[in-house]
Amino acid sequence: MAERTDLFADIVLPLALPNLFTYRIPQSMSGSVVPGMRVVVQFGKSKLYAAVVWKVHENAPQYAAKYIEHILDPEPVVTEKQLELWEWMSAYYLCTRGEILIAALPSGLRLTSETRILLNPGHIESREGLSDEEFVVLEALDVRQTLTLEELSAILDRKTVYPLVKELIAKGFIRVHEELQERYRPKFENFIRLADAFNHEDKLREAFDELEKRAFRQLEVLMTFIRLSDRYAQPKEFVKRTQLLEAAKDSSGGALRGLITRGILEQHEIEVSRLLRAESEGRTILLSDEQQQALQEIRTQFESLDVVLLHGVTSSGKTEVYIRLIAEQLEQHKQVLYLLPEIALTTQLIVRLQKHFGEKVFVYHSKYSEQERVEVWQHVRKGGPVVVIGARSSLFLPFEKPGLIIVDEEHDSSYKQHEPAPRYNARETAIWLARLHGAKVLLGSATPSVETYFLAKQGRYGFALLTGRFGGTELPHIEVVDTKELARKKLMQSHFSPQLVEGIQQTLDRGEQVILFQNRRGFAPSIECQSCGHVPHCIRCDVSLTYHKVSDQLRCHYCGWTTPPPKQCEACGDTDLRMRGFGTEKIEEELALIFPTARIARMDLDTTRGKNSLHQLVADFENRKIDMLVGTQMVTKGLDFGHVALVGILHADQLLNFPDFRAWERSFQLMAQVAGRAGRRSKQGRVIIQTFNTRHPVIEQVVAHDYIGLYQQQIAERQEFSYPPFHRLIRLTLKCKDEHLLITAAQHLADQLRAYFGGRVLGPEFPAVGRIRDEYLKNIMLKIEREANSVKVKQIIANELLNMRAHPDYKKVRVVADVDPV
Ligand code: ADP
Ligand code: ZN
Repeated sequence: MAERTDLFADIVLPLALPNLFTYRIPQSMSGSVVPGMRVVVQFGKSKLYAAVVWKVHENAPQYAAKYIEHILDPEPVVTEKQLELWEWMSAYYLCTRGEILIAALPSGLRLTSETRILLNPGHIESREGLSDEEFVVLEALDVRQTLTLEELSAILDRKTVYPLVKELIAKGFIRVHEELQERYRPKFENFIRLADAFNHEDKLREAFDELEKRAFRQLEVLMTFIRLSDRYAQPKEFVKRTQLLEAAKDSSGGALRGLITRGILEQHEIEVSRLLRAESEGRTILLSDEQQQALQEIRTQFESLDVVLLHGVTSSGKTEVYIRLIAEQLEQHKQVLYLLPEIALTTQLIVRLQKHFGEKVFVYHSKYSEQERVEVWQHVRKGGPVVVIGARSSLFLPFEKPGLIIVDEEHDSSYKQHEPAPRYNARETAIWLARLHGAKVLLGSATPSVETYFLAKQGRYGFALLTGRFGGTELPHIEVVDTKELARKKLMQSHFSPQLVEGIQQTLDRGEQVILFQNRRGFAPSIECQSCGHVPHCIRCDVSLTYHKVSDQLRCHYCGWTTPPPKQCEACGDTDLRMRGFGTEKIEEELALIFPTARIARMDLDTTRGKNSLHQLVADFENRKIDMLVGTQMVTKGLDFGHVALVGILHADQLLNFPDFRAWERSFQLMAQVAGRAGRRSKQGRVIIQTFNTRHPVIEQVVAHDYIGLYQQQIAERQEFSYPPFHRLIRLTLKCKDEHLLITAAQHLADQLRAYFGGRVLGPEFPAVGRIRDEYLKNIMLKIEREANSVKVKQIIANELLNMRAHPDYKKVRVVADVDPV
């Protein structure tokens, strides 16, 4: 007797749940549910979700499985390879597959569940006795049939409508309906084409003669159409309606309508792309001998190794080498991913690549609309040869045939995602993605991370070098100014040394540009009481508040809480309050006093929030509408300006003294990168570093452009103190509003882990900021040898984290895992 076997699907919900859930596949869908497809399922009481199928099988789960409600896609939107990558990420980064799904799918492909209410048709009782508000709801439903909760709250002009809705449901008047909405909508535009009947020269001539006599405006429109369609050169079938109307000055569209009525032209609605495409200029650039050698070296290394580091000083022409490698991949019909730190993703680079690769270039990052992101996704999924330029999230695109992943500025810490999970490092994840596809990875940097350089020296990664700047321009000349000495002699003009003031003046006099770099970290301006020294703190976090001049407010940089600056000290009541510390805003202000005629602009998180504000700032600086740019980290990244002659680094010590084992490495990277902005094209640039400690080893290494020196000193220290690359770090942060509970929970978890890992477990300790948003924090750090079985280690930790979740005493404690924190 042949019995039909029931089929089940394990699916990933867009929720941070540790397990996959199993659903039953209805008979009608059997055979059409495939891993990677989106399906609609019910989870919890009534919520509907669009989830992704992970696996199809025949094993019934322990619980009564619900049925899958619908299939959303004719074929999977997520590829098998992507699911493999998600699997690796969730195990390695100790996060759930649901969290990865949320990060990976562009929001346009994640459906949102919307609660709608409607009248209960079977309910015929009188509405008498209802409250006014209840009555208003029912009346609104009489007219509109269904309402979302949002619409309802607008109608009633109150925020919480849920109690009211519950009441009406209980009385039987209304029902609730959950609905999923697809957010992506293809875009359509109207196009005009010549009707087949008129697509012959004879017929067209007849039409011309006819129109000439009777409808001259229509003749003009038709002639414009013929011109725009390039009929006698490279004929295009369709011309965009808006383009035609504009060119023919037929703003009302009346003449065009006439032509359509006559059957000469036709109008069609066609799906179009939202992505701006550019045509390539088919450029070829001759590589210098050194670039040619590096390119050859990379090719050779790729024969035996999957990852190669290209170490090339700023402006050595790394990008030109990338372009060659990209071209080779595209010729072989392969796909390329070009990763950049988010803020280095400038129009400059995009335009440069478009000149070479035209329509094959796609850009993917968070400032794109969700609709545009879906279109990039679909394009990559089709598998054609494309080069995607993107920030870290572009690793989640459904590549079919990737041949090469370039990780430019590979040392940049913004490749690591901090919040929320998955807390992944795009550089490491890129290496995994490439491995899954048999693709290659090129890491590029002028100041490689200590970890990467170490692996290259060990021969695990290949290595290629560019030592000179393109065109032979010398690396900038770096001077160090002792601000301690100058301050003692009272020669400092606020934050500026005489050398810097003079240097700026000379540069401006020559019509050249200046960049001033001031790190924000730990130097945010705040308000201090002059008699007791008290500084206002956030009410929810253990941090002092930062003063923002534009809004005249104190603001918490951890939770966003704001308050007006106090008139008197909260502690002692004194009214003598003064500014302490300073940020880029203050520097910009003081600079304007010294150089009243200079055009000064500021580049930091506050001034570049809008979608195009960063692009605008870069363009203005490039077009020399700005003389001086004052900025944070941002000015160090990926910008290529031709007329910057001077770079000033204001307080180098702030970088160096930051309490982190990577502080010196970071300081070197930042200073070398920002120095690299000086004198890029033809002239040697000048850099002035202001510091209290002119003999600091890192300052000396920056001056000497001595990356190797920095590396050797760092690697010795890392080995001695068991830091990466010799050990891998895993940080577990426990969070709870109840401080005592937190302390016991942290101790418990640390003890559990010590049973396996012994002295590799450090802590628990309160971090530097021990309370954020009213939650207390405690850290446990694990230092695991690089050679250890990382899969096993992660399994043990994951298991302990599950035990914590399930532990009855610690329900209120959350644990956040950060693997390879930076
Ligand atoms: P990097 O990526 O190492 O910072 P780029 O590739 O941006 O360096 O090169 C620096 C400058 O030199 C750019 O303006 C670039 O156009 C120019 N350049 C680099 N290589 C060549 C070449 N082979 N021919 C002409 N110009 C080049
Ligand atoms: Zn706060």
